[in-house]
Amino acid sequence: MQIGVENLTAAARPFAHTYRPEEVELEEEAARLVADAAVEGSATRKGEQVRLRGTIKTEVELLCDRCAAPQRAPLAVEFDTSFIPQEVEAVKAENVELQAEDLILSAYEGDAVDLDELVREQILLALLSRHLCREDCKGLCQKCGANLNDEHCSCEQGEVDPRWAALADLKNREQ
Ligand SMILES: [Zn+2]
Ligand SMILES: [Zn+2]
Repeated sequence: MQIGVENLTAAARPFAHTYRPEEVELEEEAARLVADAAVEGSATRKGEQVRLRGTIKTEVELLCDRCAAPQRAPLAVEFDTSFIPQEVEAVKAENVELQAEDLILSAYEGDAVDLDELVREQILLALLSRHLCREDCKGLCQKCGANLNDEHCSCEQGEVDPRWAALADLKNREQ
């Protein structure tokens, strides 16, 4: 969905859109949406600068970073993002002395803000910190691939003492 810039003013104009899961392409192997993403918010404009504030509610399926088990979780993201025209942003990027507040700015192309891209980025950002199925996930055995949350395998775990490793190396060579 595109939000036209021209009709926006300083008065908050509400917007709402529901994306089907397949419409939000995360391009991320370990995460996908498993429910609609409902976006609600309001848009304001001050000069060329557009500000979108609101929330995204959906449900995601993530693969755990350690054990690769899929897990579903509800996700609610709040956003507050300001946009400036792309031409203006390009000029700013050349300016070495960027103001801190400039860093929260995104850019819009032409005469509309791309809500699709905002939603995609916000969901990805929110997922960055949520890649474990549980805090103390034990992960997979490096040797046999067993899920150590569910079973104990008979492989030796832990770091091999480098001195023993050298010895084992020697033994292997003798054979
Ligand atoms: Zn896990
Ligand atoms: Zn094992």
